[in-house]
This record gives sequence, structure tokens and C-alpha cells, in this order.
Amino acid sequence: MTTIDLHTHTRASDGSDTPAELVEAAARAGVKVLAVTDHDTVAAVAAAQAAGAEHGVRVLVGLEITGEVAGSAGLPWTASLRSPARSAGGRVVHLLAYGAGLLAPGAVDRVEAVRRERLERNHRIGERLEALTGVGYDQAAALAGRSALSRAHFARALIQAGVVADTAEAFDRYLSNGRPAYAPAPSLPVEEVVALVHGLGGLVVLAHPGRLGAAEADGVVAAAIEAGIDGLEVWHSQHDADARHHWQATADRHGLLVTGGSDYHGAHKPTVRIGSGTDDNVDVPDQVLADLEERLSAVAG
Ligand code: AMP
Ligand code: MN
Ligand code: MN
Ligand code: MN
Repeated sequence: MTTIDLHTHTRASDGSDTPAELVEAAARAGVKVLAVTDHDTVAAVAAAQAAGAEHGVRVLVGLEITGEVAGSAGLPWTASLRSPARSAGGRVVHLLAYGAGLLAPGAVDRVEAVRRERLERNHRIGERLEALTGVGYDQAAALAGRSALSRAHFARALIQAGVVADTAEAFDRYLSNGRPAYAPAPSLPVEEVVALVHGLGGLVVLAHPGRLGAAEADGVVAAAIEAGIDGLEVWHSQHDADARHHWQATADRHGLLVTGGSDYHGAHKPTVRIGSGTDDNVDVPDQVLADLEERLSAVAG
């Protein structure tokens, strides 16, 4: 069997490795086929491919896009998660895109622009919060470290400074939609991601559905399928055997592709091993790659 890892990060997003270090780690772990899937950027892919040629690792072009499944009255997450003005009550999901077309000049400009807007949004929240409480961007960013800064970190910074007693108070007084430090977070509707990636001859897979909450998971996945995704990520460091079986069965029922990868972030997630995940729970069969490549050559024409 070939060791395959279709979900990895470099320091172009929130991993610790340079593209060359990622490929070296893959080679050491016996990975023969590696997809580089940084959040909302393909900046590391070309350098990883060059390193792959040296180390005998095939590097596939990938991208993990921050998308959003539209909300609707009947879906369970809309009641609890008030959403930004730009989107009418959505749920943020991660979508893995695969395909050589993603590397064409300007191909994913829209995704990178939304990523920059999201970074900008955190500064806006920080400025508003600082004016109100003295706690601002820097304190939250220090708590976030290398992980993606979110309102949860602003809440923790407020607690740490003694401004609020707990997370609920932080959101109720400052951070929830409609409260004074709130700023909307842009993300791309799943339909838009699918249209963009299909237009580039690529495929879209819903990442780590097992990370969704039990109450919302099936509804969110159904909405993503409705929006036109091509597959589900079945093997992932945070998927146990039950999750793998559940999402494999869901994919089979809908005639979707299945993929898998460790979601390696280097030293930033030290329990996740490239090529094997956490406690060897990521073991992607050769057939998965064969099916993915067959579909890619079909759609790319
Ligand atoms: P962001 O992606 O910056 O909008 O922040 C989302 C984060 O804030 C996630 O970790 C949520 O779990 C958390 N969050 C959002 N609303 C609330 C809330 N009302 N109470 C507690 N945490 C929340
Ligand atoms: Mn990440
Ligand atoms: Mn993810
Ligand atoms: Mn990831």
C-alpha cells in the first residue's frame, strides 16, 4: 500500500513547516503522495512540488477554503449561532479543493481576498473592544498564538483581564452579533466555492465532518451536499472508527467521493503525524487516490 496524505498545512497558513520541511517530513514518514492544503492560499504549493521532485514525493495541488453553509429556519445551528450581516445565518465549514487548475495565475484570488478580509475583521473587533474595555487585538492574538484568531480568543482575553466573568458574558455584552464590538466575518457560500473550483477543473470535499456537533452534523452535511460538493473527508486525525464508518456510509448513499488526510500542522499540532494521523487513525486506501484522480481527469477534460 502507498502512504497517502491529502490534508496538510505549511507556514503559508497555520502550520509550522516551510514547504520543503513539509515534504521532508512526508518523505521521512514514507508518504508517497501528499496534498498541500493550506487555509485559503496556494502560496506554498509550487515550492512543495519542487521539493517533492527531489525527495520522491508526489505533491498534489490543494487548498482548504473557509466556506459557509446557508442557514434556514429549520436547521438547528441557526438558533444558537447568530451570524454576520453579510450572510443570512450560516455555519462556517472547511472545504478541501483539489486540482492542478487552482495554481493558474489569479485562480483563487477571490478566496485569498476573503481570507484578508477575515484577518482585517479581527482588527476591527480589536479596535472596538479596546475602546470599550482597554482589552484589544494584541491580548487576543497573544492567546491565539499560532492558531487562527477568533472571537473565542477575545472572550478569553476579556476574562483574563477581569472585564467579564465568563465566556457567556463576553459574548452577551461585547462579541455577539448586534453587540458593540461585533464585526461581521466574511466567508464564501459553499455554492460559490463549488462553482469557482469546478470552473478551474477541480473538486470540492467537505473537510472533517466529524468535527461538527452531533446535533448539527447531518443537517450541515446535507446542506453541503445540496450545494454541490463532490466528496466527504472520511479519514482525519479527529475521526474515530465510528465517524469513519458514518461518513463513508453517507458518501456511499449519495454517490460521493471519499478522501482522507492527517491535517498535519507540524509542531503546532504535535500529536498529529503526517501520513498516519493520531494513533494511526488515518490510513488512506490506494483506491481513494485512484478514484480522486479519475474524477479529476474527467472534470478537467
Ligand atoms: P469567529 O470565527 O471569530 O466568529 O468566532 C467563532 C468562535 O466564537 C467559535 O469558537 C465559537 O464557538 C465562539 N462563539 C460564538 N458565539 C458564541 C457564544 N454566544 N458563546 C460562546 N462562544 C461563542
Ligand atoms: Mn489549521
Ligand atoms: Mn479544517
Ligand atoms: Mn486543515
